[in-house]
Amino acid sequence: RAKTGGRNCFSFYDPALDRELAERRSLAQDLRSALADGHLSLHYQPLWANDGTTLLGYEALMRWRHPQRGMVPPAEFIPLAEQTGQIEALGAWALQRACLEAASWPAPLHVAVNLSAAQFRPTHDLVRVVERALEVAGLSAARLELEITESLLMSGTDEVLRTLGGLSAMGVRIAMDDFGTGYSSLAYLWRFPFDKIKIDRAFTSSLVHDAKVALIVRSIVSLAHAMGMRVNAEGVETEPQMAMLQSLGCDELQGYLLGRPGPAEALDHRKVEAVNTEA
Ligand code: C2E
Ligand code: MG
Ligand code: MG
Ligand code: MG
Repeated sequence: RAKTGGRNCFSFYDPALDRELAERRSLAQDLRSALADGHLSLHYQPLWANDGTTLLGYEALMRWRHPQRGMVPPAEFIPLAEQTGQIEALGAWALQRACLEAASWPAPLHVAVNLSAAQFRPTHDLVRVVERALEVAGLSAARLELEITESLLMSGTDEVLRTLGGLSAMGVRIAMDDFGTGYSSLAYLWRFPFDKIKIDRAFTSSLVHDAKVALIVRSIVSLAHAMGMRVNAEGVETEPQMAMLQSLGCDELQGYLLGRPGPAEALDHRKVEAVNTEA
């Protein structure tokens, strides 16, 4: 019993947990040199207009090819980078890389870059980081879109809203990613004028089998349009999903059916097949 003190109080040792911690530490250590060693890259997934054939741009998605472990998924290393304070450096690199790449694409194709909450820390000066990335690349602000998630707005400071306002004023577009999966999504729609809402792929995957989901998507689209926002549907994997999202009025479609993320060298701005390079 805790009350009596003694050895039993310290009997929480769990070798499995210990291994996991060591594992995470070693991964975090490797991540520290991944950028300098050239093991990080960006893949690009095409974004299509409602017709499914007009290319609008690409979303940049970070990739880490670990020399021993192979590809480490972003769902694993992005949170790690956030916890270890490395995300500011990785994020700034991704912004610069994506802008340089996009500058070589035919206008008006745009690039969408994901941002983490840590990049909004006042000391990081995100507006300046974005400004510089555009300047160095010679890319017009109108061809850059930044994707943020609700968790950022949940931290809810005026500072975040000011930074978003600054980016918006530069002409950069702001999209809310993974819409509908977090808490009180609707509350944020009047606090900041997003240019785009990206409906999470959880909706896309259950759309065809559940009439309620179609109603929800229809409502999101009509609300978004009434507020002057465009709507992207993520995770389109089948023809029936695409047909449904088209008829529901989604402005932008994205998913494996229309193109997987692929390396910059493999992008063919006219052909769908050419971007299907990621296994
Ligand atoms: P996200 O921003 O929502 O990106 C979409 C994710 O869905 C990507 O996963 C993409 O490969 C995947 N996807 C696209 N189409 C389909 C589909 O039809 N079916 C399925 N099942 N998945 C599809 P990925 O590349 O593994 O990235 C996961 C998450 O990691 C991203 O979600 C984003 O939140 C984060 N992330 C990726 N790159 C960056 C980055 O440069 N910076 C930050 N801060 N986060 C990033
Ligand atoms: Mg995204
Ligand atoms: Mg998303
Ligand atoms: Mg997502």
